[in-house]
Amino acid sequence: MADRPSNDRSAVTQPHGEPVRRLTGQKALVTGGSSGIGEGIAIELGKAGADVVVNYLGNREAAEAVAQTIIDNGSKAYAHRADVSDESNVQEMFDRMRREFGTIDILVCNAGIQKDAGLLDMTIDQWRAVLDVNLTGQFLCAREAIREFKRRGVVEEVSCAAGKIISISSVHDIIPWAGHVNYAASKGGVKLLMQSIAQEVAPDRIRVNCLSPGAIRTPINRQAWESQEARDALMTLIPYNRIGEVDDVGRVAAWIASDDADYITGAVLYVDGGMTLYPGFETGG
Ligand code: NAD
Repeated sequence: MADRPSNDRSAVTQPHGEPVRRLTGQKALVTGGSSGIGEGIAIELGKAGADVVVNYLGNREAAEAVAQTIIDNGSKAYAHRADVSDESNVQEMFDRMRREFGTIDILVCNAGIQKDAGLLDMTIDQWRAVLDVNLTGQFLCAREAIREFKRRGVVEEVSCAAGKIISISSVHDIIPWAGHVNYAASKGGVKLLMQSIAQEVAPDRIRVNCLSPGAIRTPINRQAWESQEARDALMTLIPYNRIGEVDDVGRVAAWIASDDADYITGAVLYVDGGMTLYPGFETGG
């Protein structure tokens, strides 16, 4: 079966209707929020009522456009440039958020990069760049957020948790990926970083979870969906037979950040159309 274009989905998926503003009064920070999955999450958190800081690295106009969309939907938002792998950049970003929004309730660690190469061709710079952004960046942001969550504690009118962290990992936190060892190592690291932090801070009523996307149509994986040939090859990996869209992840993020998901911590939720179901075994094995 061929991949369906995104505008066909309404026929077969649940109608989404007006979003419930279940995050009203909450303050969220989304790293790498100017494009792709981060943009989708930032917009969905805004629709759910959260005020949102849209972190970006290079594209200020795109980040400001995302912030404007959130404002147009009725929440507050601003764009903030910071390199998540730089400790002082991260601290300044959280300091400004405390000044402008007063606190943080939801952190989404989404910023991530790929620098692909076969093992023998991979340079130390390619290795370090990916680990620095994808793994160290999540550590630095999570540490700052948890400092603030613990300082402030639970504010019952806002949320029954003291804070929520959503780590954007990948199906490659469990599926090995030849030719991408830096990326797979970083995402495997994100999974155990998240679970270890979750264990450490659960008594403080702080929830920490991973969303691990499969193939989502964004700039990071353009070569996997741009041509028909590439899409056909991709569909052999996705039992649900369509590529994911950024709002598929965004809506799950808004839900897992909400009190509806209050008893979920340390979980890895695969948002992948079944990619982790080992589709090669459907007829073989
Ligand atoms: P993307 O390239 O659109 O998004 C990545 C974002 O991170 C960009 O906005 C980029 O500017 C930002 N970024 C990069 N380095 C940064 C830094 N040092 N500091 C701050 N921001 C930085 O691609 P995407 O697909 O939306 O990726 C978002 C996340 O989702 C990544 O962590 C990626 O690994 C993960 N992911 C994506 C897919 C997919 O299929 N698209 C699948 C699994 C996981």
